[in-house]
Amino acid sequence: MSSIIRPGEVTGPVPEIPLLHLPERGTVFARRAARLRHLGEGHSLGDYLRFLALVTDAQQAALGAHPAVPLPDDRERRLCREHGLPPVSATGWRRAEAWRGDLAAILTDLAGHPLPGAAAEAVARLQSSPHEVIEDQAERILAAEPEGLDATLVPLVAAGLQVYWTHLTSALGAEALVRLDPPHLCPACGSRPVASVVRVGGAEQGLRYLACPLCALQWHLVRAKCVVCDSSRALGYYAIEGGSGAVKAEACDDCHRYVKIGYMEKDTGIEPIADDLATLALDLLVNDAGYARFGVNPLFVPGPLEPPALP
Ligand code: FE
Ligand code: FE
Repeated sequence: MSSIIRPGEVTGPVPEIPLLHLPERGTVFARRAARLRHLGEGHSLGDYLRFLALVTDAQQAALGAHPAVPLPDDRERRLCREHGLPPVSATGWRRAEAWRGDLAAILTDLAGHPLPGAAAEAVARLQSSPHEVIEDQAERILAAEPEGLDATLVPLVAAGLQVYWTHLTSALGAEALVRLDPPHLCPACGSRPVASVVRVGGAEQGLRYLACPLCALQWHLVRAKCVVCDSSRALGYYAIEGGSGAVKAEACDDCHRYVKIGYMEKDTGIEPIADDLATLALDLLVNDAGYARFGVNPLFVPGPLEPPALP
């Protein structure tokens, strides 16, 4: 039977858009640490960015030594694929206690460095905290539930969770993951994106990927549409005056949310978590203009929908 081809229909082979970028186990956190150090030079938040670089170095070491942990079984993976659900949901997956081992390794590593007073205190406090307190903080971070969060402990607890979830996502592999509905949620853990990146080179030239703050997965989403509400009607782009313009805030007048967008064409070194932290002034600007942040950066400050405040 022949089929009718209508005008506008694609008849040739469609170039394949890679849906996912899995975190590279050997370099994901090391690259972030290097970027944090680079961005920290001459930055008003330089001390904080350099402290986070130490945390991120420790995360790389913890990921490299990660023990095997339970993963979703074949049935769970199939159900998630069929129903478009995240197989290691931040809020639904029964996390293994091994994540606290990741946190403990990070804290031991940090305790071996000279740290600013508040950071040293936070490390010591967490090292002597009962499991229940740590699990309670973890639960609130994963649920983006600001009530009851201890702001000084959050970046460290989140760092442990990031290592564990990055391990899960890279161990699952791309075959286990599908685009979710809504497509702005992480296909592995269901988190909201921390930022987006327009990539350069090869088949990905000019394509936009959203970045997960928890498991470091990146997934494709078309450009020129609001990440949050899908509208293409009322998008505006904000940037810091006099800056490089490599990171902008894409703000939507339909839903009044924004998500940062980094352009690798302007700076090939962009790393979503690090560049987000180094552009907090942009959050203040966009917040003043009446837009609310969509996804959190757990290395900074609690709050599900609010833009982070400068310390
Ligand atoms: Fe994720
Ligand atoms: Fe919108």
